[in-house]
Amino acid sequence: MAVSPGDAEHLAEPVAAEFAAAERTVIEQLRDLLTPGLSRPGWARARTAASGLLRRALLRIVPGLRARTGQAATLAVQRAALLGDRAARGELAQHELPPGPNDLDITPTQRLTRALAEDFEPVYARILRQPQDVYRDVIARASEGVLEGQITRVRAAQRALDDFADRGITGFVDSRGRSWELAAYVAMAVRTTCGRAAVQAHVDRLAAAGQQFVYVSAPGGSCPLCEPWEGKVLAISGPPGPRDVKVQHAAAGGRVTVHVAGSLMEARAAGFQHANCRHSVSLFLPGVTTVPTAPPDAPSYESSQEQRRLERQIRRWKRREAAALDDTARTAARSRIRDHQASLRILTRESGWPRKPAREQIDYAH
Ligand SMILES: [Zn+2]
Repeated sequence: MAVSPGDAEHLAEPVAAEFAAAERTVIEQLRDLLTPGLSRPGWARARTAASGLLRRALLRIVPGLRARTGQAATLAVQRAALLGDRAARGELAQHELPPGPNDLDITPTQRLTRALAEDFEPVYARILRQPQDVYRDVIARASEGVLEGQITRVRAAQRALDDFADRGITGFVDSRGRSWELAAYVAMAVRTTCGRAAVQAHVDRLAAAGQQFVYVSAPGGSCPLCEPWEGKVLAISGPPGPRDVKVQHAAAGGRVTVHVAGSLMEARAAGFQHANCRHSVSLFLPGVTTVPTAPPDAPSYESSQEQRRLERQIRRWKRREAAALDDTARTAARSRIRDHQASLRILTRESGWPRKPAREQIDYAH
């Protein structure tokens, strides 16, 4: 059985769920602390005076969140590594090849877990800080709107709170300069790490069993980064660059030549097996393995991007629902959620991609 980074992505969901639930709690705290006396004079002054309550609420949320996410993340990475190891053992067993030593070095998995914990640090910092800025901003904007006499304070406050709900807790920028909403950022970090742990454990097992080559799957709906490597044979270790490798082949009664497109490390450095990637590598046995070609009517990369967009919209309107100060706003948010869910159903039916209900949630943990 081959393993792709995408195979481990479901392991990220419990972790992302913890963060998304915390985000919703934060939005509800804001809503509840801003609501009292909203239509009465003196609201802004009273709410400003009460801002310490928000700070205390946030300080209560973070430690529990940190403990839960730390545990969930460690477990996710361990399970991902186990998945990879098992898949490799399965492939070896299929060809009646020995699996190599029982226990492999777990340092790579531990290193991945530590790096992931570091990825979360900015998130806790933002959860403590940003809602306090938003709280002050909502009070200021609601007061301004009313002074200008154009709109009611409820509408002005709702507008300011909606702006926050639309984005959620933000400020996460990846190494390529793209900014992410919280749930997507965390899921991206965990999926990337779990994906790496799985594919690494897979090839580590193959290498420990004395194997030299893997081939790259062609799942269709290709991501541009991986296309150059599709269907190619790669060396598990060794120098970069295409070359011919001669190997002993008992059944063929002599040597066979394997054309490799490069090394696995080289392909990964060029972006192959990025986060969420569905490209896998499988054991390649010279003279035995025939590399399969792409399935004919694979769903396109574009439709998977459209699915991600709809999932983001659903999460956005669920945050709006949590931020709703009255029933009108709540009903409007719910109908937008249903619209996007309907579009998503149509898309997944046409594209054949499975729906990922957890990615549409902001509160599925509690
Ligand atoms: Zn890919």
